[in-house]
Amino acid sequence: MPIVYIFNPDTGLNERYERNTWDPMPYVQGRTMTVGEFRGSSISNILWTDRRIIDSWNAFRAGWGRPIFIGYAFKRIWEGGHTGQSQHYSGTALDLGHTLTDQGRAELRQYAIDSGLWSYIEPASLTPRWVHVDRRFGSPACGTGGYPALGVGSRGVYVFTLQDALMALGIMGSGLDGYFGFGTQRAVANYQLQQGLPATGGVDCNTWLRLTAQARGVGITPTVLI
Ligand SMILES: [Zn+2]
Repeated sequence: MPIVYIFNPDTGLNERYERNTWDPMPYVQGRTMTVGEFRGSSISNILWTDRRIIDSWNAFRAGWGRPIFIGYAFKRIWEGGHTGQSQHYSGTALDLGHTLTDQGRAELRQYAIDSGLWSYIEPASLTPRWVHVDRRFGSPACGTGGYPALGVGSRGVYVFTLQDALMALGIMGSGLDGYFGFGTQRAVANYQLQQGLPATGGVDCNTWLRLTAQARGVGITPTVLI
C-alpha cells in the first residue's frame, strides 16, 4: 500500500499515511485528487508533498468548479523527467488539463494566473499541451528557481528529495524520512568529499547542482526504496 508523507508546516512534522491508490490524497476535499492521480506514472510506493500544495489544490479546484485532469505530478528523481531541480521531484508541482481543448487549456492557465494560488505557472510556449503549476518554499540556493539551501534541522519536501538523490547514488543506504539530522549531514559531507566540494555537510547551490545532475534518471539502484 502506498505511503504518503505530508509535510505539515503548522507542526513541522512529516505526517505518514497509508493509502490505497484509489483513496483521495490526505487533506484533499472530496475525491478531487486520488493517490493514484498524484502518483501518475511513477512506480514509487513512497510519495511526498507539502500540505500547502493540497490547500492550493482545494481552493483552485473549488474555484474552477469542475473536474481537472491531473496528468503528471509526483516523480522520484531517479525516475527522471523534467529538468535538474524539478518541483515534481519534491512533490510540489502538478501538470493539469491534458484532456482539455486548446481553448479550455488557455482558460485554465489564465485562471491559474488569476487565482494567485501558485508560485509558478509554466508559460504556454514551454508546455502547450498541459498547464504546469507549482509552489515553492524558501529562497533558491542558486538564486534562480531551484531548491533552497538545507542543513541540520531542515524538514519537509526538499529534504526528501535530497535523501532520495543521496540514496540513488548509494551515498545513503536508508533513512528516507524528510528530516535533516546528523546522519543526513554525514552523508552530505561524504558526498562533498567524494566530489571535491567543501565538506560542510550543508546543501548549498553547488552541492544541489552536482547532486541533482548526477541522480536524475539513474534508475533503480540497490539503495533506493520503491
Ligand atoms: Zn510539470
